[in-house]
Amino acid sequence: MPIRILPQQLIHQIAAGEVVERPASVIKELVENSLDAGATQIEVDVEDGGIKLCRVRDNGCGIPKDELVLAITRHATSKIANIDDLERVATLGFRGEALPSMASVSQMRVTSRETGSDHAYAVDARDGSISEPMPAAASHGTTVEVRELFFNVPARRKFLKADRTELQHLTRQLERLALSRFDVGFVLRAAARIVFNHPVATTEQQQQQRIAAIMGDDFMPHVLHIEHQAAAMTLRGWICLPTFARNQPDLQYWYLNGRVMRDKVLNNAVRLGFQDVLFGGRHPAYLLYLQLDPSLVDVNAHPAKLEVRFRDGRHIHEFVHRTIEQALRSTHAGAATSHAPTDATSILAGGQSIAAQSTMSMWPMQATSQKFAGEFSDAVRDRSTEHAHQYSARLNTDALKIDVNESQFVPPLGFAIAQLHGVYILAQHTDGLILVDMHAAHERVTYEHLKAALARGNIPMQSLLVPIAVNVTTSDASLLEEHAALLSKVGVEVERHGPTSMLIRAIPVLLGRWDASELLQQVLGELREHDASLHVERYIDEVIGTLSCHTAVRANRNLSIPEMNALLREMERTVRSDQCVHGRPTWARVSMQELDRIFMRGK
Ligand code: ADP
Ligand code: MG
Repeated sequence: MPIRILPQQLIHQIAAGEVVERPASVIKELVENSLDAGATQIEVDVEDGGIKLCRVRDNGCGIPKDELVLAITRHATSKIANIDDLERVATLGFRGEALPSMASVSQMRVTSRETGSDHAYAVDARDGSISEPMPAAASHGTTVEVRELFFNVPARRKFLKADRTELQHLTRQLERLALSRFDVGFVLRAAARIVFNHPVATTEQQQQQRIAAIMGDDFMPHVLHIEHQAAAMTLRGWICLPTFARNQPDLQYWYLNGRVMRDKVLNNAVRLGFQDVLFGGRHPAYLLYLQLDPSLVDVNAHPAKLEVRFRDGRHIHEFVHRTIEQALRSTHAGAATSHAPTDATSILAGGQSIAAQSTMSMWPMQATSQKFAGEFSDAVRDRSTEHAHQYSARLNTDALKIDVNESQFVPPLGFAIAQLHGVYILAQHTDGLILVDMHAAHERVTYEHLKAALARGNIPMQSLLVPIAVNVTTSDASLLEEHAALLSKVGVEVERHGPTSMLIRAIPVLLGRWDASELLQQVLGELREHDASLHVERYIDEVIGTLSCHTAVRANRNLSIPEMNALLREMERTVRSDQCVHGRPTWARVSMQELDRIFMRGK
């Protein structure tokens, strides 16, 4: 075929593919226009999952009669005028592409009555032609109707899913938008039935209601509040406690300068922030608002404006990562505003959740002392050493001196009274009973201790009098050799002994008498699993995770009361100790009131 210039209508249809993918994208573009027009109430009506009809009505500024045709003309916009404007876009739209794109793949009508005008006008767009404005009846604002989406692009129409699925998509889309502007009311109706109605939310309580309706009732009671400002950036919002993490990344909402955003840099920064508290494919839930100088971000990086480019992505990444990490450090019993990571009582009492407000933690939290980190581990590992005896004894006398019944100071996790089936520590607190998963808690405490040691330099290692020989495959041997430096950082010294044999020369002091060759096999497993391109930091974290798990007290190990108290005190001092390294809770509380309720005392 010879080269030819395509007909205008076809050019538009091709370009439309970038902006309009499905009914949800129609809703997004139309609602963004309404928000840009200053609307405070936006009502969306759809039929057949939006394929038959998407109608968005707003009470915004309206479009003057003589601009109605222009509004549907390609590259016509009221939002930017020159290249400088493009550098600091403050509106959601700016490309002048949405209405013409939709018009080229549907039957569109735009009806509008400008603020201050007595008359409304409408234009129809179909198959590339736009009608003259005709008088219409309408109150102030704009209504855009998009009918029979992709009626003239059969290939596209075939890609649409069942009505129900499309409705789900557009509902989620509109919910995302509703969380970007609490000062605007949103209504969604499908086939004339109300799907949701979120009135303008001015008070904090109304806002929380909207969040709960969209994120689920469980979200707000399990979050940390974030509010952090640095230079030209502000990050605020809520992140879930690690114990509320999910199996899929479905509750992750990012807003950048009020714009709905799905950005890899930002997502990754949150993931890294959660890295110490979430292992094993769990996903955090969050609702985060990032505000920064518009000139620091290029919003013109994606036709549907879903992606952005940051001028200084590293800086923003670091800011978000550190903010999240710092907020999560506060999740330990010693923190002033801490609360049980899980409410044993709600389980015991049949599932009602209690005291939602108490879970709102404040930012920023104080840093906590790591002073005794390590001592406890020694104490637990080997009770026969003199050092451990001293340590236990000291804690023991401390415990005896304080009578729990007198209203003297009682530490947040109380005092140990017993061990249950070699798994749980039971502790008495003025408020009631504290339950601690001793392995999970000790694992976290050890992990943090190792991380601190690593931050100071190296993890202390002890040379073995008799090196341990381990048989491995040739490729595993090379892998270990290759990562010898990394391993020595975490306190493991290995050396090639033969083609299929390695010598373990030193192990971390902490590891004590645990089986070094078993540990090496696990570390090997991790090295094999990750490709070499992975960040060394991530390797180390995983190796430390393995070390901690190995060193942590096992189930069925009997602990003395002083040992248990030592662990409780250690938890209070350790950052992130409310969850084990897998994000599960390490302790729970049953209050006296709950116990009284169970036994119907005082009724
Ligand atoms: P953009 O939003 O990028 O400017 P659009 O094609 O979405 O491009 O809209 C074109 C123009 O039509 C907008 O710049 C605006 O002036 C006008 N417009 C569209 N929708 C509305 C609305 N709901 N209320 C007022 N004006 C609107
Ligand atoms: Mg627009």
